[in-house]
Amino acid sequence: MPRTALTVGTCHAEPGQITYGSFEGPSLPTGGSDSLAVIMAQGKEDGPVLWLTANIHGNEVCGIPVIHRLLTAELCAHLRGTIVAMPTLNPSGLRTHRRHPYYDDRDPNRTFPGLRRETGEPREPTVYERLTARLLEAIRGSASYYVDLHTASILSVPFSIRDRVLYRKESEKAAAVALSEQLDEMTAAFGFPVVMEYRVGGYVAKELHRSTTGAALQELRLPAFTVELGPHTIVDERNVGAAIIGLRNLLRWAQMLGGEPEVMPALPRPATRQRLRREDGPYPPAAGILDYRVKPGDTLAAGGVMADLCDLWGRPVGDGVIRVQAESWVIGLEDGILAYPGAAIAHVAVIEDSPTVDVWPA
Ligand SMILES: [Zn+2]
Repeated sequence: MPRTALTVGTCHAEPGQITYGSFEGPSLPTGGSDSLAVIMAQGKEDGPVLWLTANIHGNEVCGIPVIHRLLTAELCAHLRGTIVAMPTLNPSGLRTHRRHPYYDDRDPNRTFPGLRRETGEPREPTVYERLTARLLEAIRGSASYYVDLHTASILSVPFSIRDRVLYRKESEKAAAVALSEQLDEMTAAFGFPVVMEYRVGGYVAKELHRSTTGAALQELRLPAFTVELGPHTIVDERNVGAAIIGLRNLLRWAQMLGGEPEVMPALPRPATRQRLRREDGPYPPAAGILDYRVKPGDTLAAGGVMADLCDLWGRPVGDGVIRVQAESWVIGLEDGILAYPGAAIAHVAVIEDSPTVDVWPA
């Protein structure tokens, strides 16, 4: 018999069944609260617990049908262990088609417990900091693995983001290396192209250690990663199908499901087999209108032209082109055609040259 009473919010796991409930969300001044829907699928046999969440950015909807379609009676009948799923971590953003909840102007995916940027001023935890602190405790109490589903810009490829594992004391290093290896295996089992997060300085400066899977990895030492499912706002059917196959293969890797891995449909892949890291850029030298010369999934050689840059009259600005510095796999173009100095025009993956396990910056 499964290990009992796994409960998240009002949702109680039942062996061999899909069960439904909710996790208390921010209370609303108009009454009620923005509760988070919880779905559990528990096998008849005891096993690990996979947490699966989506839509913490309210306009990133593609993960919702992934969860709905993955959790079937058929899956439940063959499952070992339990899947705890939350289709949205941001109901207000989902309703308003906005990335952020309207009652907290911070990026909700930077509000989980973790080292806070010091402002020198004490402050009250925000609405989302209160919610995500409780959420992380629920994850701590039950999860063996965690996957969070996102989307990126309108023109973007599907990929997994894998954080580097940070540690503080030398005595923690061996466990950090083991966790990092487990994360490599888990992302490989999922099967999307894997891109490392920003270098450690940028990672902490952007507070990515306070994201869903960043906090689970760094605070709870839990194998956890984020999936990007292509364009925001719409549901890309190919990416939904690929993610469901990837998740079933991940369940097989975790010994929560039997059978041979299913074949992943063809996805855009980088030209290199070397480890890649995500970076923002390139940056335009001046304001203007972009005319991209590449599409997501293309690889550009060092110095290659990403876009033409002209003014609104169509005349070249500067030398008329924006180039990448290093060899780059194009993972996403920014929405729109506007160039501003200081605003990256794309997101790329470059060859990783920093360690996958690293010490926290001082
Ligand atoms: Zn997102």
